[in-house]
Amino acid sequence: MNLTTPALFARFPDAAALAGARQEEVEALVKSTGFFRNKAKNLIGLGQALMARHGGLVPSDPAALGALPGVGQKTANVVLANAFGVPALAVDTHIFRVARRLGLSKASTPEKVEADLCRAFPREDWIELHHQLIFHGRRTCDARRPDCAACPLLDLCPTGLGKVKDPHSGVRIAPPPEGLHPSGGRKNDTPGTPLAPEASARLGGRPRPPSLALNPEFRAPQRIISLVPSVTELLVQWGLAARLAGRTRYCIEPKWIRNTVPAVGGTKDPDLGRIRDLAPDLVILERDENPRETAEALTALGIPWLALEIRTVKDCVAALRTLGERLGASEAAEARAAALEASLKGRRRKGPRALVLIWRDPWMSAGPDTYLGDLLRQGGLTPIGPDRYPTLSEADLGALDPQVILLPTEPYRFNRRHQAELQKRFPEAEVRLVDGQALTWYLSRTEAGLDLLRGFR
Ligand code: SF4
Repeated sequence: MNLTTPALFARFPDAAALAGARQEEVEALVKSTGFFRNKAKNLIGLGQALMARHGGLVPSDPAALGALPGVGQKTANVVLANAFGVPALAVDTHIFRVARRLGLSKASTPEKVEADLCRAFPREDWIELHHQLIFHGRRTCDARRPDCAACPLLDLCPTGLGKVKDPHSGVRIAPPPEGLHPSGGRKNDTPGTPLAPEASARLGGRPRPPSLALNPEFRAPQRIISLVPSVTELLVQWGLAARLAGRTRYCIEPKWIRNTVPAVGGTKDPDLGRIRDLAPDLVILERDENPRETAEALTALGIPWLALEIRTVKDCVAALRTLGERLGASEAAEARAAALEASLKGRRRKGPRALVLIWRDPWMSAGPDTYLGDLLRQGGLTPIGPDRYPTLSEADLGALDPQVILLPTEPYRFNRRHQAELQKRFPEAEVRLVDGQALTWYLSRTEAGLDLLRGFR
């Protein structure tokens, strides 16, 4: 597989290229891997599905991944873990064999072995363990000839010690002579006992990300609590999900984090005791989203925090770089910051007078000096209304005389009925329901917000 992919990726570098590929050409490129006709068909179908359903990008949602052609649970887990940093433990043929030989599982299906391993090892070790077990299976614990004499896990392994039959071959392996035990230490007297932590430690230490290796003084935070919903989503987009130790109950994207990352209360009223118990090494805040008292309480608890301030789209460029540097993710951050910065260059037309309403009963709007106001400006509209987030009386609303009224689907759930009411009241204006997350989730969706508004012409 590894010999095949360089030529395949060079010829078809993205989903769009694969979607338009000819079956015979893909078959020729993957022929040496076996089942090549089916693989070629799935690869083309995968490209087409990514283009049709996901804008050419690989989704980070397990259900969406599993619905793609040729993608089963194992592939979905590998992509989630390695592309998005989501703790997952895909069980392939090597892991299945090694786990059963070591007595970490007695199950007879990959799914059940996966469940046993997930129970035995802490979540933060799953991604690394996946690679360690595969490497061990390839290098030492071979399917036909396991090299037990050279195995660093021998004294933990009931199969290698000959105490049980090899679950892979059904034959009892003769234990190596006493003097050949490389680990030399204690014997595992209880065959089948899962010695998960020790096995994990012996299979290799936690590798340091390359960015840290460049600066030995720097330690990127490994237990991050994000109190900002869009920042939580951004961290997942950057592949840092495994470092998320907590989130607020409003951090709901991508959806699967609701089941995997503990909630620590709301954005305005976080549970400080819960935060302290989760022992974060960084809490991320935003000055509008979270109250100053939270930062003060964190300081009193001795917990490091980082507060962003996002009032303009340009602030997002700076915040992306700040976060990238602080989290040891400069490469991903810089790529995104530079692209966003480039998209802000050039003169903006002074477009129609636009009012964004963010609440009803009473009416509230986002003023020109907010992130939303600046997003409108950068998107070619002219934001109107009083500064910040004012409450508007019916008379105030009428006096603003907007040419465009935007009704985001959050924080207030504006719907078609509200749209119709306002359209009746402002027959000359264009009243639109718009995706609230695209408009208000700065950093993770700023580009989507700009696209939405720039298409508004
Ligand atoms: S002792 Fe032998 S069977 Fe056990 S893990 Fe090592 S190589 Fe595999």
